[in-house]
Amino acid sequence: MNIILLGAPGSGKGTLSEFLCEKKAFTQLSTGDLFRDNILNKTELGLKAKEFINKGKLVPDSITNSMVEKYLKGKKKDLIFDGFPRTDDQALALDKMLEKLDEKIDKVIYLDIDESTLMGRLTGRMICQICKRSYHRITRKPLKEGICDFDSGTLIVRPDDKEDKIKIRLEAYHNQTAPLIKFYKDKIIKINADNCSPEELYIRVEKVLGF
Ligand code: AMP
Repeated sequence: MNIILLGAPGSGKGTLSEFLCEKKAFTQLSTGDLFRDNILNKTELGLKAKEFINKGKLVPDSITNSMVEKYLKGKKKDLIFDGFPRTDDQALALDKMLEKLDEKIDKVIYLDIDESTLMGRLTGRMICQICKRSYHRITRKPLKEGICDFDSGTLIVRPDDKEDKIKIRLEAYHNQTAPLIKFYKDKIIKINADNCSPEELYIRVEKVLGF
């Protein structure tokens, strides 16, 4: 089963992916993580993407689509698309890529969340540089400050998790990504992601997917 996770920045897509990969052996494709790895390794792609990401803007479709196409070579089944597609053009490109692999998107999980909670979630977020697990300064603290519980990686604050950049990212979400809810109207499952822990969110998703 191939699943897209759709939702605003901070709605819980990354943590939900973590759970689905751990508990149900999905493979996560996070375009944000791929871009950040490229930036860290100073690749040509990373250099191009950085100028958009650090401003809170979406990376152009041509760059994003070709990165995903490369990633998908050799990976076929039980994929979770986290943060991709984010535009109509990307959604159409993904359909074509999957068709070539004789695969398709089965479900689109839309994490519906009250926007007033997003700013607090994102400005307090820290991520592990190694495994990308997400923590929060107040609500999801690591056992040892600044260190990932799972692999002792260093926790970092993303440069785009600053208030001014978050506002731009939310605008991009509304203008370019939210219209995908209509695009996927036949596959979408709306989940209320308000006021629930990552564990509770996972249980809600598990139920609707019939695991
Ligand atoms: P994320 O980790 O999903 O929050 O993504 C972080 C940033 O990476 C986004 O704000 C965009 O700048 C960029 N990005 C990630 N995925 C995409 C995508 N599918 N299309 C364009 N830009 C993306």
